[in-house]
Amino acid sequence: MQTMRGIACGVVLASSNSLALGQVQAPGYSPAPAAHAQIPVVQEGTTVRISEHVYLIPDGKVPMVPNVGIIVGSRGTLVLDPGMGVRSGEVVLREARKVSKGPELYIVNTHFHPEHTTGEIAFPPETKIIRAAAQQQDVEDMGIKWVQNFASRSPVIADVLKGFTTFRTPAEIFDREKLLDLGGVRARVMRLGPGHTRGDTVVYIEEDGVLFSGDLAMKQLFPAFATPQSRSQSWLTSLDEMDALKPRTVIGAHYPVADPSVVGEYRDLIKGLQARVAELKREGKSSDETGELLRNEFRLKYPDWAQPIRLHAAATRIYAELQ
Ligand SMILES: [Zn+2]
Repeated sequence: MQTMRGIACGVVLASSNSLALGQVQAPGYSPAPAAHAQIPVVQEGTTVRISEHVYLIPDGKVPMVPNVGIIVGSRGTLVLDPGMGVRSGEVVLREARKVSKGPELYIVNTHFHPEHTTGEIAFPPETKIIRAAAQQQDVEDMGIKWVQNFASRSPVIADVLKGFTTFRTPAEIFDREKLLDLGGVRARVMRLGPGHTRGDTVVYIEEDGVLFSGDLAMKQLFPAFATPQSRSQSWLTSLDEMDALKPRTVIGAHYPVADPSVVGEYRDLIKGLQARVAELKREGKSSDETGELLRNEFRLKYPDWAQPIRLHAAATRIYAELQ
């Protein structure tokens, strides 16, 4: 019998609050002890240059720390996912200022989860947040609940999130796509999904061939179906849209920088899960049995991938989609 808990990007949420997060359900597990030893704050002085206009502050595989993107044009700088809480935000702002060329400052989030958004608190008031309407809906429906839930998990996380009580109002809300001209480089900000969340957003830097894929495609990290709106079919459509961009480099919201094959790896995995779920459902297996069986089956099939616990939620979500 599994304890039901919620899973965010790099973290498992406390079971007592999972239903408050919009029926986020996945089987429980205990994170490795190392996950508790590392403070989830973006690391200063670790910025690397990926391409002509793109810099990255890597996550270092620390749970609740995202890969932070910094895209630099002659007029403005776009920060993608400024980390969790004021300390992360301050680090990201300092790192961004080291490489910035123009005065304009923008923030885009790959999705609404606290480790991707709440670093905004450290940014100056003139910073413009640009957000998809679907992601804004996620923020309004679930944003603060997730912040409170993260904070309830440990005093360390509570301290990191201290002072964050409300999300900023975006300067601009778009529906499907926003082309942001930073001066000599343009960021295509695209709402895809629902996959990991309802408001999944990716950013493509055409001039450099760099795609920030959010949690929709990551290197050797299993996908998290993290909200009630998560769907495998729209996740697959999102992967097709990412492939159509023909990126040369793909940077997931967590884990190492990858080549474009990471998109196909996610497609193969999700299609493989869909096929097996359909078979097991036809055989009369329950949703929970299917989740259990496929968690074990795909963990063995993908021995190098992290967080196999997420397979249970993926399988039960797909099971519910099949009618
Ligand atoms: Zn997430």
